[in-house]
Amino acid sequence: MNSTILITIDVEDWFQVENFKKYIPFSTWSSYEFRVEKNTHRLLDLFDSFNPQPAALKRHAHKVRCTFFILGWLAERLPHLVREIQARGHEVASHGFDHNLCTEESNHRLKQDLLDSKKLLEDIISAPVTGFRAPSFSIRNDILKVIEGCGYLYDSSFNSFAMHDRYGKLLLNSDTKKGISYQFSKNFFEVPISNLGLQNPFSGSFTLPWGGGAYFRLIPFSIFKRGVNNILKKENAYLFYMHPWEIDPDQPRVHKASSSCKFRHYINLKKTFLKLTRFIEHFGQCRFVSCRQYLDKIADS
Ligand SMILES: [Zn+2]
Repeated sequence: MNSTILITIDVEDWFQVENFKKYIPFSTWSSYEFRVEKNTHRLLDLFDSFNPQPAALKRHAHKVRCTFFILGWLAERLPHLVREIQARGHEVASHGFDHNLCTEESNHRLKQDLLDSKKLLEDIISAPVTGFRAPSFSIRNDILKVIEGCGYLYDSSFNSFAMHDRYGKLLLNSDTKKGISYQFSKNFFEVPISNLGLQNPFSGSFTLPWGGGAYFRLIPFSIFKRGVNNILKKENAYLFYMHPWEIDPDQPRVHKASSSCKFRHYINLKKTFLKLTRFIEHFGQCRFVSCRQYLDKIADS
């Protein structure tokens, strides 16, 4: 069976990232230049360019279908972009409403955020929204229960790379593993970000961040693809994440941010689009499906 790749896009703009929260407060968001629409369109066009052609020009065996976790704040202002994503055949899912970390929200506010962002997206696309990704992967086991309680079918917020200070922690029971997903209850799954697990004869096993984002921009493609191959060999599926602003080298600069924040955000922006193109080309024999399609397939098998 062909391996599966799940490309996931967190739809937020350059001024909404956790990295710059200190310098760009929520109350000022409306005053900044929106670049997300143009950048998301570039991604949609890229994914469409890999769809099978009717003639012999066929480059790929399957259509490229992705999951777009969209910020409610943006969806409210750009409903046409949400509808466009759906019309192009991709899954629309929630990235929360205003990008607050789930681990810092009260139970009540978290619930409101999960319900509001879900309802807003569902009203826009007139279809159910069943997936959620927490801002900055801020997840915990008790938060999963709240997400499930708000009517979602799955969460995709767990990044097992333990060295990042903001990423949340989850206890996953390997007995419940189905493909790369974990079944938490009859109707609720976790679909974690893929990372590269390696063995070291001295210190045992360790994890390298291999799921996308800044690490995708930082690691040379020749090495990155080997890691992905390694994951596919083991898991037969790989989940990748990125943001529309990562293909936008001309975005305004936040000069007052710390050097580490700037490094993380701006490193190799110029190269991402081409690298992503090479990534899809290189793994052209894989199936590129949305998280929901993947879970439905797992349930059937
Ligand atoms: Zn985000």
